[in-house]
Amino acid sequence: MAAETLASEGLGGVTGTARVVVVGGGQAGLAAGYHLRRAGLDFVILDAQAEPGGAWTHGWDSLRLFSPARHSSLPGWPMPPYQGPGYPTAGHVVDYLAAYEKRYELPILRSETVTAVSRAGTGLRVSTDTGTWAAEAVISATGTWWRPFLPLMPGGFTGRRLHTVDYRSPKEFAGQDVVVVGGGNSGAQIAADLVGVANLTWVTRRPPRYLPDDIDGKALFDVATRRRQAIETGRPDTAGVAGLGDIVAVPPVRETRDAGLLDPRPMFARLDSDGPAWTDGSGCRADAIIWCTGFRPALGHLAPLRLRTTHGRIPTAGTRVVAEPRLHLLGYGDWTGPASATLIGVGMTARAAVADIKATLDIGG
Ligand code: FAD
Repeated sequence: MAAETLASEGLGGVTGTARVVVVGGGQAGLAAGYHLRRAGLDFVILDAQAEPGGAWTHGWDSLRLFSPARHSSLPGWPMPPYQGPGYPTAGHVVDYLAAYEKRYELPILRSETVTAVSRAGTGLRVSTDTGTWAAEAVISATGTWWRPFLPLMPGGFTGRRLHTVDYRSPKEFAGQDVVVVGGGNSGAQIAADLVGVANLTWVTRRPPRYLPDDIDGKALFDVATRRRQAIETGRPDTAGVAGLGDIVAVPPVRETRDAGLLDPRPMFARLDSDGPAWTDGSGCRADAIIWCTGFRPALGHLAPLRLRTTHGRIPTAGTRVVAEPRLHLLGYGDWTGPASATLIGVGMTARAAVADIKATLDIGG
């Protein structure tokens, strides 16, 4: 669609036009860019961060992939092998993502926060903190890291209250009483990180469910793909990765667990001023509570579209939003494609999203 057409449809003040605008330049946005380039579509990627790497630039110091480099690749170019011991570090992932966007000369505008996506004529208007883009289709790939979830908990706890996103290293908690809440990957990894440095209490809503020790990212992707195939062919839902467990037993988690140092308590009932209290009358002191209670999709910029959600998710057919077919969601979780929130999984989902967009735009002319 030509810029003049957009202007005649009332899109005055447009600072740029692109057939497809991708919101978010993390791994999902880059995978979308790779396939948009191959499809020959005119596009731009708008990313809020000043630097490449998406959420991988923000994790804690010891954060590592749960799979080797060869099973953590975006489409087209495999992640280079990691030379150090163990699985690749978050820094290695950031270097890979930075090199990836250069290699494919992806058109990324940085420090560009999308504040709103709205309908405008036959297209979509993408408003940022510096201007406005007109697009025929939008791929939203903003991830979840930017929307940490903390449950409401009554009580007047006076110590430090942190979320996964605030945690960097065990050093700042040396010798302190620290409660880690959460039985997922972040909770288990941060609890393992604190063992031997802080006086740790790990609290989980239900007993931790570890995936088999030999499971890595590749196996998780295969399980997620089998689930999608089962659903698509009318066979019983296998429950996918969730059916296997919640926690990937990465080496530090496995080692501390096997040494008997990761022994969780059930969820507490309330918070007193000095720490949590359980229904059996027991309690523990805490200097800090780290809530590893997950994330929600960062979809605030889509509010003007007034899309209904079911259990916090916008209904989609594949990646296409049912109520707004010009909008695709990529990378938020299994609901937008098998393992689409992972490095190995997002490529296949991005390819399907771009094929769908191309077919729709080709029909529209
Ligand atoms: P992000 O990396 O969050 O990128 C989104 C980008 O969008 C960011 O650059 C952000 O600045 C930008 N953005 C957000 N809002 C806006 C806006 N309004 N306007 C413009 N830009 C915006 N996956 C694996 O494959 N292997 C692993 O080992 C693994 N370990 C993980 C460990 C943890 C603790 C977590 C939380 C996740 C892990 N994942 C792993 C999952 C996944 O790889 C990451 O969550 C990944 O960062 C998701 O990529 P993304 O591109 O969807 O989102």
